[in-house]
Amino acid sequence: MMPLRFGDVTVERLVEAEGPGFFPGFLIPDCDEEVLTAERDWLRPHFHHGETGRLIMSVHSYVVRTPKHTILVDTCVGNDKDRPSTKPWHHLQTPWLENLRAMGVAPEDVDYVMCTHLHVDHVGWNTRLVDGRWVPTFPNARYLFHKDEYAHWEAAEAASPDAGGSGGSDGCFTDSVLPVMAAGQAVLVDNGHSLDDTFWLDDTRGHSPGHVAIRMAAGGHEAVFSGDLMHHPIQAMYPEWNSRFCHDPEMSRATRRRFVDGHAERDVTVLAAHFAAPTAGRIVANGDRCRFQV
Ligand SMILES: [Zn+2]
Repeated sequence: MMPLRFGDVTVERLVEAEGPGFFPGFLIPDCDEEVLTAERDWLRPHFHHGETGRLIMSVHSYVVRTPKHTILVDTCVGNDKDRPSTKPWHHLQTPWLENLRAMGVAPEDVDYVMCTHLHVDHVGWNTRLVDGRWVPTFPNARYLFHKDEYAHWEAAEAASPDAGGSGGSDGCFTDSVLPVMAAGQAVLVDNGHSLDDTFWLDDTRGHSPGHVAIRMAAGGHEAVFSGDLMHHPIQAMYPEWNSRFCHDPEMSRATRRRFVDGHAERDVTVLAAHFAAPTAGRIVANGDRCRFQV
């Protein structure tokens, strides 16, 4: 994704990993592969890998710079973390932090970290390993977590402390969220919370109990960091298709449908957490259904 400019705000993508990933039927059990094949003309080459049939996916953060602040949206998987449930993420090593520096952002420069939700691939770089301890990666940042999302994972970790957390979380709340809280850098926020008169949080729960989309209005244009309310652009066309990681299936479908219907033919740049390059796009009407247009 080329850097995007919205007035005096810039948005860049910081990639941790990208390429052919899950098979469609694994990530999106609701997916009808015949339907997917029929849509290959607009899904290829960016979002569907013809040779393997896999979905092309990305794990990335967004680096947002305003005249006042440097903001990170979602922080990927992170380095050195114990993630036995997902082999490619177990003790991962990537130059994510070096690449952030190469963009002109030192860890000390980050003012805010905003997590759309607290799944394992959205909180990793909240912390890093220093002398055997997990410490906040960004010493001067405030980290904004939705209060309901935080409460859910706090209870889940408490209920299964020896199981490495619930589901595929592999204890990410313990190593990537609690140290931020312990350092006094976490701020628990609610829907509608705003920042700089430019960003505000929009309730999009369903994929997770307190999932938020982060909306932005700047330079006469709107954008939305939509997190995991869609994992793949095909879900703009079939919002009833859930991912296997959706917490509340019915709420997740309803939230996605409302989001897609509400953005069709609106000039809002959609910036999802896992859409591969070129990543940014709009939702456009396409007969009875919508489509994602890069
Ligand atoms: Zn995710």
